[in-house]
Amino acid sequence: MRKTTGWHVDGPSTTLRLTPLERRDLRPDDLAVRVDFCGVCHSDLHAVNARDGDHPLVPGHEFTGVVTETGPAVTRFTAGDPVAVGNIVDSCGECAMCRTGQENFCHAFPTLTYGGVDRHDGSTTLGAYSREYVVRDRFAHLLPVGLDPAAAAPLLCAGITVWEPLHALGVGPGTRVAVAGLGGLGHLAVKMAVALGADTSVISRSADKATDARRLGAQGFIVSTDPEQMADARDRFDVVIDTISAPHDLGPYLRLVSMDGTLSHLGYLGPVTVETTDLLIGRKKLSSAGSGGRPATAAMLDFCGEHGITADIELLPSARVNEALDRLRRNDVRYRFVLDMSDLD
Ligand code: NAP
Ligand code: ZN
Repeated sequence: MRKTTGWHVDGPSTTLRLTPLERRDLRPDDLAVRVDFCGVCHSDLHAVNARDGDHPLVPGHEFTGVVTETGPAVTRFTAGDPVAVGNIVDSCGECAMCRTGQENFCHAFPTLTYGGVDRHDGSTTLGAYSREYVVRDRFAHLLPVGLDPAAAAPLLCAGITVWEPLHALGVGPGTRVAVAGLGGLGHLAVKMAVALGADTSVISRSADKATDARRLGAQGFIVSTDPEQMADARDRFDVVIDTISAPHDLGPYLRLVSMDGTLSHLGYLGPVTVETTDLLIGRKKLSSAGSGGRPATAAMLDFCGEHGITADIELLPSARVNEALDRLRRNDVRYRFVLDMSDLD
């Protein structure tokens, strides 16, 4: 086994502590990656909070780094390549979903970057709040030239999660898009929708982020707690991308969707209740999405490379991971924390 270190939670505590970790020896199609930068996703916070306490957890599923070693069957990468990895590190490769490049929906369940079950040895995967990660080559992507590797790390979860629905829903020039919740996912959704040519608005709980929204390229801004503004925006958007991290009523957001339009509910992944009439009136659609397949991830990275899109980040040494999670809990982030792992050397 390969020795590294990382930040984990163990036992009843929700405080992350530095611990020695082991990574598997390289299989023929594996890469060893020195993790340089790892984004702090709200899903990491959900995972830390929801942990049963019996199993140690190392979060981290959007990272960039450099290949340090390759298995003998690897042809696409060599040591020294800058790479990016997201929240899926393996899939069956044979089911209908994998065959169409939607490994994120693998019928045999994709192997998650942390808290997943390795398909070969049955071990629990440990995430990238760590100095090294070992990944199957198919699930690593070359980082486009010109993108800052720290600010690009969040593209691999937050970015691809909003890219897939924007793409699948045909967002392009003139599409009226609203993004609900201006956080890690939300601010990347705004940047991408704007770059796709969409007429883009932000829906946020207060006016605090209005200036930022405009700087990100949004033309419109709606305060969701103001009933008048919500009523004025009725039926206004072809697509509403909901990235809100807490449980909430979908009704007010469905009412903003235009005839035959779609609410894509990506943020809070628990049960929801919907009044059928909120769908019936205007023949509206409710959908969701999660992560992305390999082809879409590559396309998203190309698009971001071409348009210079990365996350707005606050870069912290990894030793400040608990502060980052605390501030994320309090919604005190604009718009993504990224951990610099070089302090683990
Ligand atoms: P984040 O940076 O914390 O952003 C979430 C945003 O939601 C906040 O900025 C806030 O926006 C809004 N919000 C928070 N609490 C709210 C409440 N009680 N009511 C209304 N709005 C609230 O989180 P993130 O990293 O973008 O993740 C967002 C969600 O997506 C999380 O639940 C995460 O687990 C999930 N996620 C899903 C996938 C997937 O595969 N579908 C992938 C990654 C993440 P305003 O301040 O603008 O109101
Ligand atoms: Zn994530």
